[in-house]
Amino acid sequence: MEEKTDIKSMTLGELTAELAVMGEKAFRAKQMYQWMHVKLAAGFEEMTNLSKSLREECGKKFSYTSLETVEIQESKLDGTKKFLFGLSDGNVVESVWMQYKHGNSVCISSQVGCRMGCRFCASTLDGLERNLRPSEMLDQIYSIQRLTGERVSNVVVMGTGEPMDNYDNLLKFIHILTDENGLNISQRNVTVSTCGIVPKMKQLAKEKLQITLALSLHATTDEKRRRLMPIANKYSIAELMSACKYYFSQTGRRITFEYSLVGGVNDTDEDAAELAALAGPLCCHVNLIPVNPIKERDFVQSESARIQAFKNKLEKNKINVTIRREMGRDIDGACGQLRRKHTDALRTLEETARA
Ligand code: SAH
Repeated sequence: MEEKTDIKSMTLGELTAELAVMGEKAFRAKQMYQWMHVKLAAGFEEMTNLSKSLREECGKKFSYTSLETVEIQESKLDGTKKFLFGLSDGNVVESVWMQYKHGNSVCISSQVGCRMGCRFCASTLDGLERNLRPSEMLDQIYSIQRLTGERVSNVVVMGTGEPMDNYDNLLKFIHILTDENGLNISQRNVTVSTCGIVPKMKQLAKEKLQITLALSLHATTDEKRRRLMPIANKYSIAELMSACKYYFSQTGRRITFEYSLVGGVNDTDEDAAELAALAGPLCCHVNLIPVNPIKERDFVQSESARIQAFKNKLEKNKINVTIRREMGRDIDGACGQLRRKHTDALRTLEETARA
């Protein structure tokens, strides 16, 4: 059977063209788009200002994605909420909702699993299952907004997956998310984090979006970076710095360097001096992340005095730096841990059933 078109993954332009073929005027497409992306309707049946026959026809022609809420965990420390959502094919993804003074932020996943293999990351332990569609990335935000009843103002693509490994869907997702006829989130409030796929970083620069690009650097020499991140075998730090420079030249947007501090691995004063040398010539901001230990690996967090000393060293070198607040430490904080806990439990159930 032919697969139905996923209506929530369409831009307004595409939807208008599709509905025109069905003999509908452009304003109908806009109404439908608003039902999906502003009123966050759960299905065609909710679109009460559209005729019943149009709704039925659309139901036959298009698929309408929505997520099943599998689990919600709330941090007692800071109110951070972690959501585990079920997709239509039975896979699960996790998303995080965080409250800051400047507004509510949602961290979304871009893939089911990940194939990048970063040594400290829980999301990659079972490899990549599949890419998420634009609708499935949007639905994480829409579901959270519906469930919390609060408006999301910032979106970070920093959950499970490598967004640049799902480039076309990512781009469409950003366009729909920031469309003035949709949720209309400002591009400046959208951050995309990458492990550093250089050609895609350059391609993104050419799109001239106003989003923030965050680069997961984590080490200051190629040799050290290769020990933490397999992608470093493909692209050198020199190539990464040149891609960052290009991104800034095309967009005027300051780059963020993410640097997860791993005790005894990348947290010495020498590392800080090298990081300052890399960051200094670029218009960038350094975000230090105390590594979140995962049970499958033996990495440990740097001591808090070490983290502070590392930050001071960068500041002495006039680098703009912050330490990421650890949100939701009491609720399977690290990327991919909630999803993993869930899939591990399923595996145990299956194994028990087989035995
Ligand atoms: N694939 C993208 C986005 C997902 S990860 C990327 O690599 O940037 C988001 C950030 O969290 C990345 O900087 C990643 O390296 C970091 N990260 C992953 N696991 C972590 C852990 N256990 N502790 C600290 N940071 C972690």
